[in-house]
Amino acid sequence: QEDTETAVHSDAGTSAEVNDSTVEDKTNRRIKIGFSMDGLQEERWQRDRDMFKEAAEALGAEVVVMAANGDDAKQISQAETMISQGVDILVIVPHNADATAAIVQKAHASGIKVLAYDRLVKNSEIDLYVSFDNEQVGELQAKAIARLVPKGKYVYIGGADTDNNAHMFKKGVFNVLQPLIDRGDITIVYDQWSKDWTPANALANMKAALSANGNNIDAVIAANDGTAGGVVQALGLQGLAGKIPVAGQDGDLAAAQRIVEGTQVMTVYKPIKLLAEKAAELAFKLARGEPSGADRKVNNGKIEVPSVLLSPIAVDRFNIDDTIIADGFHSREDVYRNV
Ligand code: BGC
Repeated sequence: QEDTETAVHSDAGTSAEVNDSTVEDKTNRRIKIGFSMDGLQEERWQRDRDMFKEAAEALGAEVVVMAANGDDAKQISQAETMISQGVDILVIVPHNADATAAIVQKAHASGIKVLAYDRLVKNSEIDLYVSFDNEQVGELQAKAIARLVPKGKYVYIGGADTDNNAHMFKKGVFNVLQPLIDRGDITIVYDQWSKDWTPANALANMKAALSANGNNIDAVIAANDGTAGGVVQALGLQGLAGKIPVAGQDGDLAAAQRIVEGTQVMTVYKPIKLLAEKAAELAFKLARGEPSGADRKVNNGKIEVPSVLLSPIAVDRFNIDDTIIADGFHSREDVYRNV
């Protein structure tokens, strides 16, 4: 894992400009954005960091990035640091959906708006939420698996209980599976969260699922590709990799490779560039006090949060060339390297 703190420096001269708020009109100043990230464990987050920074800088903003490596106290103190450094807006990927409400409060107390990036901050007056339709992510996974395995024993390997998205993904999965469960066609034989989304915890969960069911399992839905990796590893130890369909999410390179190799049947691809660009554009607007034009509302336990939700895309071996590869998310060479 990378080190905890990634400070991205601005061009020389910027800080003088930024601090000179007494003489410069706010709208003429260079906007300074604080990007508070959970961590960079999954492959996607490095893309998020780089693409968000690039998009925000292209709009003329300055970006400071800090990553907390799954440490709630650290994420809060890093946000405090950014607030005291005079950021105009905070963009946050919360590690813990509840704990980070404190950040929203502190930012607001200093007149700074907060945008929730990819993951919602709960029970707070967060100003804007920009993400993918996360319930739809789960629906796409369950539809793909139910088409392949209309009857049988299912395992659900969830994400981190502390991440609101993990709950949305699971809700989506069960939107699709519940009628099949009610009909008696499928049974959920194991269902657990994977603490902090780690592949190691998913591996342990899948081992437990296999041993509790005497390896008698027909399909697995894992909340993301990292956890799907742990699942496939556990299946491999029993000689079952490639024999039991596994779904994941993110379009990680390792998952794309597993899809063409046959050990994972699908992933849900979320074009990170679109998210990063949308979030940068809206962060910029919020910082300047302009309306965001958010068209959706998501309840976070306290308010209806104005939200923008982009569309996720189901990817299997049949459309991988036309989606993940055509988009340049991964090269064809990398995806097919082992086949
Ligand atoms: C994101 C996923 C990611 C997971 C673990 C979720 O909130 O939406 O894309 O795989 O966190 O980082």
